[in-house]
Amino acid sequence: MAPRTSVAVVRPELRQITRDLNLHVPPSYFTTTTSRMPYETALAPLLKEDSGPLHLYLGVPLCEEHCRFCMYFYGYADADGRKTEECLVGLEDLLRAIAPHVERKVAGMYIGGGTPTVLGAPQIDRLLAAVNSTFEFEASSQQTFEMSPRSFSRDKARAIAKHGIRRVSFGVQSFDPNPVREAGRAYVTAERVSELIDTCRHEGITEINADLMVGLAGESDTSLCESVEILLQMSCPTVSIYRYRPARKAELVDNGGLDEYVEVCARRVQLAIEVADQHGYEISGRVDGEHVRLSAPGPCPWPEANLYETRYRPHLRNSLVGLGSGARSFLRDEQLVHCEHRAADGFRLVGREVEVEYCDGPSRLAAAIVNGLFRDLRVDLTPLRNLHEPQDWEQVDAALADLVSMGVLVESENWLTVDAAHRAEWAYWDKYLYPSDWLRRRQLSDRLRVR
Ligand code: SF4
Repeated sequence: MAPRTSVAVVRPELRQITRDLNLHVPPSYFTTTTSRMPYETALAPLLKEDSGPLHLYLGVPLCEEHCRFCMYFYGYADADGRKTEECLVGLEDLLRAIAPHVERKVAGMYIGGGTPTVLGAPQIDRLLAAVNSTFEFEASSQQTFEMSPRSFSRDKARAIAKHGIRRVSFGVQSFDPNPVREAGRAYVTAERVSELIDTCRHEGITEINADLMVGLAGESDTSLCESVEILLQMSCPTVSIYRYRPARKAELVDNGGLDEYVEVCARRVQLAIEVADQHGYEISGRVDGEHVRLSAPGPCPWPEANLYETRYRPHLRNSLVGLGSGARSFLRDEQLVHCEHRAADGFRLVGREVEVEYCDGPSRLAAAIVNGLFRDLRVDLTPLRNLHEPQDWEQVDAALADLVSMGVLVESENWLTVDAAHRAEWAYWDKYLYPSDWLRRRQLSDRLRVR
C-alpha cells in the first residue's frame, strides 16, 4: 500500500451517509442475497462437526410488557399460560427435530427472548431438560438465562440452577422513573433488584449481570451514573450499558441529529465510568460504542464471552444457532438464518419457513475489517489473508490503500491501525469500506435499524 502522504479531513458525503443511515455503529455483516427454507433444514449445516464453535441462542417470544425501545418484542404472555405452553412445545419439538443433526458440543448458550421467566418454574425445568437432552456442553461453556426482576421467583432461580446454569442477566435500564415511564416499562425498585440478586446467589448462581441503557427519552445527564451507583452498591458483579439506537429518523431529529445524540450518550457513559472507577470496577468497551461493560474488582470469574453477540470475531467465526423468537443463526458469516417468531403466527417451529441471508466473500471480508476496526481501532490482516481468496480483496484493498495514503489508517507488519488523529472520526471514515451495493440497498430502505 502507498505510504502516508497527508492528513485528510473526513469527506462530507461520508458524514452524510453515516447520519442518514444511522451507521455510527456498523452492522455485523453485509448481506448479498436471500432465500427461504424450513427452519430445521436451514439449521442443519450449523450443527455439523467441522463448522466452528457452536453457540446457542434460545428465544422465548413473550413478555410481560412492551418496552418502546425494544427490537425483540414479539407478544404478550397471557394470564392462563396457554401461549407459554404452546411456545414451550414449539421449542421442544424443534429441539427433537434437530437432535439427530447435532455433531458437536456447545461452547456457549444464552436463553433470552422476549422474557424467558414468563415461563413457570416447571416449564423452565422442561425447557432446560430438552436442551440438555439435545446438546452436550463444553466444560468451559458459559450458559446464561435472562431473568426479569418482575417475573423472577425463588422456584424459577432454583429450576435454572438445577440444570447447571450459573449466569443470569436481567434488564433494569434505569432507576430514574422518567426514562422508565417514557419507555413504557413498569418501574422496578432497587429493593426488588436486590432481592433478585440475593435469591440467585442463594441458589448458587454467582455470575449476575444487570443491563442499563443510555440515550432513552426522559433521561437526565445523571440518570445513568445514579443507576450505576445503586447497582454497584449491591455489588452486582457486572453491569452492561447499552446505547439505545433510535428506530426512526424523527427520533434522531428530536435529539439534534445523530452526532449530537452520540456525543450526549458518550458524556453520560463517561460519568458512569467515573462512578465505576471509584468502586474499583474494570471497564471494557468504548464510551461512544454500543456496549460498555463494568466488571467487579478482582480476577474476573468468567471472561468477556458474550458469545451470543454476533459482531464479527475471527476466533468465533460467528457460528451461532438461534432457536425461536427473533433468533439469528450464523454459519461462518456466510449463511444467516432469521426466525421472526411472533405470537400471532403461532408457535410451531418445525417446518416454519425462515429467511436465510448469504454473504459473499468480499462482503464477509469487508464486515471483518469494519467490525475489527470498530471494536479495537486496529485489525490483524494475517488471519484474513489466510481465510479469503485474492478476488475477495480487490475492492477492499483499493479502499484500504486510499485510507492509508490519506493517513487515516497506518499499516505496519500486517496490522492496520486507525491513526490517532482520525479516531474521533473513524465512525465516518469506515463507510469507505462498506460494499457499495449494500449501501445502495440501505439507502432505498426506510429501516434505520439493522437486525
Ligand atoms: S421485556 Fe425485554 S424483550 Fe420484552 S419488550 Fe421489554 S426489553 Fe423487550
